[in-house]
Amino acid sequence: MTPFTYRCTDCGREYAREQVRYLCPECGKRYRPGIPLVGVLEVVFDYEAICSTFKCEKPDWNLFCAVEPEFFPPMAVGNTPLVKVQRLGEGLGLPQLWVKNDGLNPSGSLKDRASFLVVAEAKRLGEKRVVTASTGNAASALAVVCASAGLEALIFVPEKAPKGKLVQMVVAGATVVPVQGTYDDAFRLSLEFTAQRGGLNRNTAYHPLTLEGKKTVGLEIWAQLGFQVPDAVIVSVGDGVILGGVHKAFVDLQRAGFIDRLPRLIGVQAEHSDAIHRYVQTGRYSDAPTPATRADSISVVCPSNAHGARKAVLDSHGLTLTVTDDEILDAQGSLARSTGIFTEPAGAAAMAGLLKLQKGPDRLPANARVVLLATGHGLKDIESPLTRIAIPAAVEPRMEALNL
Ligand SMILES: *Cc1c(COP(=O)(O)O)cnc(C)c1O
Ligand SMILES: [Zn+2]
Repeated sequence: MTPFTYRCTDCGREYAREQVRYLCPECGKRYRPGIPLVGVLEVVFDYEAICSTFKCEKPDWNLFCAVEPEFFPPMAVGNTPLVKVQRLGEGLGLPQLWVKNDGLNPSGSLKDRASFLVVAEAKRLGEKRVVTASTGNAASALAVVCASAGLEALIFVPEKAPKGKLVQMVVAGATVVPVQGTYDDAFRLSLEFTAQRGGLNRNTAYHPLTLEGKKTVGLEIWAQLGFQVPDAVIVSVGDGVILGGVHKAFVDLQRAGFIDRLPRLIGVQAEHSDAIHRYVQTGRYSDAPTPATRADSISVVCPSNAHGARKAVLDSHGLTLTVTDDEILDAQGSLARSTGIFTEPAGAAAMAGLLKLQKGPDRLPANARVVLLATGHGLKDIESPLTRIAIPAAVEPRMEALNL
């Protein structure tokens, strides 16, 4: 832990840690469910303290952390492998391509990183119950981390969330409330719940430590590349908090003086769940009214971190693009076949984005060091790949019956 203040990303006002919990008290007055969050708070550390204490030879990552380690849940999250994928990379004209396999987190997605930190904060505050709305993964992450820490998880999910994710939550003992409607409906309901009944709300970007938790993936990438900044990171985008978190990692490293540039952030959205993409392109925000996609984890009408995600893309000289469900499911298969990494459709969206990017005018150059984030495990949703593949029929156990 390094001392920090919260700073409003809209008005710049600063607040002491104990003064605020969710949004900026001033700007948050302008927020109502159904618009992107305003007054999202950012953690601003004492960067001189980090600079004088952090050593690459023996990295103490707690220096970049906004909660004291004594409150950490016993479960270990993060520290996922960064895999150099030579064959895939060469096929794409990118011999220096890595995949950060975050599907290998305990609940199978990058969301464990955010849940871990918010649950640590709940322990620090003495809160017994943590509440979230989720498309599925944030909820399964919260369920398992709460189980590890002995807290109650209360979860609002769209009723159509993939079965595997719902099973994870229920098995881990969470209180699960499937909501008739969309993720955006669940988001609003969860805010009303914590406003009236209390508990700590973990909603993405609404609780500032979700961004800080997701940031750890960026810090790890830097360390795993030998304390080098990649040229680009490809990230699938729903609410835009993973994108914002990766950005914050490199901003923290820059403010502390360890790096002198940011990686370009390439955000990939599903064709019909494209509110952030259009916002980046036009500078004007509007909802994605029917965000239907097989990539359920990035299906959102009104992304909570739309403003922060847009700033992160522009600040890093990155770009955004969209991909179709066909492209996503193709990419899921080709990533699995060329690397062995099986990622859920939302994770495969990043791969689909990279494939598309390399075919167009914004192609990344051959000398670029590129990291593709695989954000969730493929077994989270087996229905989607089953629309593309057939499981072979059983044979009699005789050599003659084999058609090989
Ligand atoms: C949540 C999630 C995303 C998108 O993250 P946002 O912060 O909502 O943009 C991408 N992939 C997977 C697997 C996720 O669970
Ligand atoms: Zn403010």
